[in-house]
Amino acid sequence: MQHFPIFMDLAGRRVVLAGGGDAALAKLRLLLKSQARLTVLAPDPAPEIVAWAAHGRLHLVRRTVEPGDALCAALFYAATDDDAEDARVARLARADGALVNMVDNLAGSQFITPAIVDRDPVTIAIGTEGAAPVLARRIKRDLEERLSPTLGTLARVGKGFRHMAERLPFGRARRDFWLAYYDRAGPRAMAEGGEAALRPVLDRLLEEHLSQPDMPGHVAFVGAGPGDPDLLTMKARKALDAADVVVHDRLVPSAILELARREAVMLDVGKEGFGRHTDQGEINDLLVAHVRAGAQVVRLKSGDPAVFGRLEEEVEAIEAAGLDWSVVPGITAASASVAAIGRSLTRRGRNASVRLLTGHDMRGFADHDWAQLARPGEVAAIYMGKRAARFIQGRLLMHGADPETPVSVVENASRSDERRIATTLGRLEPALGEAGLTGPALVLYGFAPRRAAELTIPLQEAL
Ligand code: SAH
Repeated sequence: MQHFPIFMDLAGRRVVLAGGGDAALAKLRLLLKSQARLTVLAPDPAPEIVAWAAHGRLHLVRRTVEPGDALCAALFYAATDDDAEDARVARLARADGALVNMVDNLAGSQFITPAIVDRDPVTIAIGTEGAAPVLARRIKRDLEERLSPTLGTLARVGKGFRHMAERLPFGRARRDFWLAYYDRAGPRAMAEGGEAALRPVLDRLLEEHLSQPDMPGHVAFVGAGPGDPDLLTMKARKALDAADVVVHDRLVPSAILELARREAVMLDVGKEGFGRHTDQGEINDLLVAHVRAGAQVVRLKSGDPAVFGRLEEEVEAIEAAGLDWSVVPGITAASASVAAIGRSLTRRGRNASVRLLTGHDMRGFADHDWAQLARPGEVAAIYMGKRAARFIQGRLLMHGADPETPVSVVENASRSDERRIATTLGRLEPALGEAGLTGPALVLYGFAPRRAAELTIPLQEAL
């Protein structure tokens, strides 16, 4: 982020703009929304500018910029529609100590003006670092359509009621009150009775919320999916949006964690295959403590919480404490991985069953398990199989599996850095070693990729 967005208090501050043509007009229309003291320097100003000056909305000086014109100015805009003149006035303004913006000149600007969606006091600033003005305009249009024109009124009246809402305890109770106002009661009252109807609705809503008992604590075991935020369920997003506390695993990417409510406490209890991890008992205690304290907890697990996620252990701890819980399923890595290679997990006439295994637990596999899996036509999705690959390969071959059995490995399934490797059981090691996997990877035993040509590591190379 080269440009860091802030909202600047311009009330009563001096803002100077050089220029009297189209560029100046565009900037002035925005600046006139602020409470800044505007000075425009232009030898030949457009009629609109002259009219604004006549109405006392800005101070007009009919000449070009001279040294000292930008003294004590918070901001300075070079908007003369002339590159050389813009450069000259920008230099003078900088020497006067003002922060300078040059219209259509990113490199020469110390700050840039975003596209703005104005629902004062709600203001949305959209910036693309100058990369895509078209995109900024499109986002602005989408937001303009989505946000009711009455939002500003709702927010202004709401702001005047904040001190009253402090009668509700800080935290969830107060938040629920405001959500009820902004999501439902406020817009409805506005539609039916206009601004005058808002205050009575706020009074009534507050009484209702004051008489409600506190909401009890709850933990939702939520599947975060394989990593792509678009693969989250709506329910998962809602849960994140309402969470007081999010307890998550290492595998959940930051793009998903960022969807959690801004005030939510984020706790990383990262567990890595064979490495450092928080003890399961500690995680259970943590969940119980927060739910008992009345928090809405989201226990966020990668993929589906019910697949190699120790779901039941945590549910049992919550139940033993007599607390409330629910499960929000997610897309498991096996689903995302077969999707990546264009296969289905089952297929009529090919395989009617599929095993979900962890490389970890296969170390405890009995001989007959291996013998069964080694039979022709058997398939399996092997989680946490990266380090166990050599061991799995050895055992399967020992129990008579065909070395030509196809194996696909999908690393970072569904993420932008997804990699697909096609190999065979006989070549699984060294293919995995050569690939140098660093992210989570799923071993799909008995699956060849459909779109071989699209493999990240071509078949020929891997073979
Ligand atoms: N509950 C998770 C699995 C947790 S076990 C689920 O349903 O997906 C962790 C293992 O899942 C990793 O070692 C890896 O084998 C697999 N995994 C998780 N995310 C993955 C991804 N994006 N791509 C490939 N494998 C993944």
